[in-house]
Order: sequence, then C-alpha cells, then structure tokens
Amino acid sequence: MTSDFIPVNSPDITQEDKDYVGLALSQGWISGEGPFITEFEELFASVVGRDFGISVSNGSVAIDLVIEALGLGPGDEVILPSFTIISCLSQILRSGATPIFVDACETTWNMKVDEVANSITSQTKAIIAVHIYGLPVDMDPLIELAKSQNIFLIEDAAEAHGLKYKDKNAGSMGDVSTFSFYANKNVTTGEGGMILTDDPLFAAKIKTLKNLGFKSSPRFVHDVLGWNSRLGSLQAALGTSQTRRLDSIVEKRKRLGSTYQEAFKHLESIKLPATSTSYAENNYWVFGIVLNPDYGRDALDVSHVLGTRGIGTRPFFYPLHKQPVLKSFGFEQQPRLAVSEMLGKQGFYIPNGLGMSSFEVERVIEVVLDVLD
Ligand SMILES: *Cc1c(COP(=O)(O)O)cnc(C)c1O
Repeated sequence: MTSDFIPVNSPDITQEDKDYVGLALSQGWISGEGPFITEFEELFASVVGRDFGISVSNGSVAIDLVIEALGLGPGDEVILPSFTIISCLSQILRSGATPIFVDACETTWNMKVDEVANSITSQTKAIIAVHIYGLPVDMDPLIELAKSQNIFLIEDAAEAHGLKYKDKNAGSMGDVSTFSFYANKNVTTGEGGMILTDDPLFAAKIKTLKNLGFKSSPRFVHDVLGWNSRLGSLQAALGTSQTRRLDSIVEKRKRLGSTYQEAFKHLESIKLPATSTSYAENNYWVFGIVLNPDYGRDALDVSHVLGTRGIGTRPFFYPLHKQPVLKSFGFEQQPRLAVSEMLGKQGFYIPNGLGMSSFEVERVIEVVLDVLD
C-alpha cells in the first residue's frame, strides 16, 4: 500500500458543517436533548416527507427499536432480503421470531417483490424492504401486498437519502422507515440514525424505548425497559448542516456514477449497476461492480489486486441466509438463493467518497481498466 491509497470512502466535511457543530459546542448543547436534536429531527422528517423523526445512535439500533416496538416473538415471521446487512436480521433473531429470506433481482440487486408475495403465511407479521446501493425496492406492489394482508411494512432507507421512487422519497412509504448516518451515507453524522413515521403512537413508543423508558414524570419510575440509544447534539448539528445540502450531495454522487458508467461500459468482464428502472434512477450511493462468473476471478481476488495498486474496495454483502450465526438460533436449513449468493461472491464497490478529487477519480478509472480489461 502506498501513501496515496484511495480509500473506498472519504467524507466531505465543509466549513459550514464545522461552524454548525461549533455553534452547538459554544452554546453548551452536547447531550441527546435540546434544540439541535429537535431541529435535526424536524428538518430530516420534513425533507423526507414524514410527520415524526426520532434520532438514534445508529441505523442498526433504529431497526432494533422498530422490531422491539412491534413486540415480535416466537411464531412470528418477518420477510426480508438475503442481500443486505446483518442489522436487518439481528433483532429478529434476538426476539425469537423467524426470518424468511427472499432473493435479489439480478439487475437491481433489490429484493424480488414477487418472491415476497410467495413467502407470506398466516404468521407473517412484518416485511423489511431495504433499498440497496442507490436503487429502491419496487414499492407500489409491496405496499399493496402489505396493506391487503395487514402486514407491517418497515422501510430500511439507510442507503437511500435523497433517492426517489417514482415521485416519492425513499423513507416516506413504509409504515415506518429507518435511516443511518454512518460515515459513508449520503447524510453523515459519523455514527447516527433516525426512525421516521406518521403514526404519533408509534413515535411515542420509540421515543420511550430509545431513552431508557423514561417518562416525563415521575422520571425515575419505569413501566417499560428501554435502551440508551440517543444521538448526541454535536452529531445532530452535523446532520442538520449536511441535510441542508442533501441535493448537492446526491448530485455529486450521481455525476460520479455516470462518469464510472461511461468509463467502464465496454468492459466484458463485469456487470455494471442498472442506470435506471421503470420506477427510479440510480443515485449511486455506492458504485458496485459484479464480475461475470465466467471471468475466472472472484471479488476477493480482484479487490486484493486493486488494493495492492492503491485502490480501496469493499465486498458486497454476504448473503444473510448463509450467515453462520443463524445456527446458534436454531435455523440450519435455508433454501438456495442463487442471485444473493452470486452477488456476495462476485460483487464489490470502488471508491466514490464525496471528498474525492477529480485526480483520484481518474486514478481509480485508470487502475480498474488496467486490472479488468
Ligand atoms: C448502513 C446500513 C445500516 C446500519 O446502519 P449503521 O448506522 O451502520 O448501524 C442498516 N441497513 C442498511 C441497508 C445499511 O446500509
């Protein structure tokens, strides 16, 4: 590795971001309550188009809290994609409920909605729709399905800030949606997350659960157990500042996505992300590359070679239905989900950080072409 290594993500923290965090500090607002928290929650909820926003410490805990609030347990089934992060699965397993995995679509990498329909039983209590890598799940048929069967729809929009499904914002369509503000997300607070909903009762429940089960009065008497999953004010200030320029952040990612598409379109060794579908345009949260299975090398090999040439990469998700941890919860046998397994083996993404210089973008293109052509 040389010193001019280009990492897979590099954040863009502007002077305005720093000034706004500085303002919170200089006013003494540092905890998980106060005006900077409220401002971020209200701004983010309104940008997405929802009534309530509850900030939390990360996007994984956002999902945990939603599953907990639903009161799921043994005998309940939750349908989710196999091709996603472990965060979608953790609390389902801890609650004692049963995860039902569906495969991914080969072109959009998102869960196949017709497979969701086939997976519904009388025990299905919730569906988690996860928007993957810059393209959304086909939500309309999924919403119709969930409504008609009275199933709770969770929208994991952790990778989908500023992403449109038809004319709707990702994160505005499920009964509840969750976001992450991790360092590589379109809006980042370093670590952070948010839960959005239009349901005041659900919002109140989440607020209690994320704050140790405190009531307003008497404060230290607890009817329910919660967690401390609060976001801090410094992070909220950063989140507000970033959310104010979300449009330009997304534009930058889209431009970079188009640049890579153009540069790599002639490569026969790989499949590039879909630029669009009938319901959405890719906003390239990350830029994924899938090696053709007959290419002879898998993503791990190629990532290693790129790494030695100074280009950081990250492998695609390892399919959830193959996770070894399932065994310790008593789930041994899972069906084969061919597309998720192929993506997990053949896919990786290349640097697309908002802080990249045009020189770095050129360098990535040059090396990727050299390695894959
Ligand atoms: C990043 C991410 C999460 C988890 O968010 P953290 O803030 O890292 O805990 C959850 N779901 C998806 C799809 C993600 O990409």
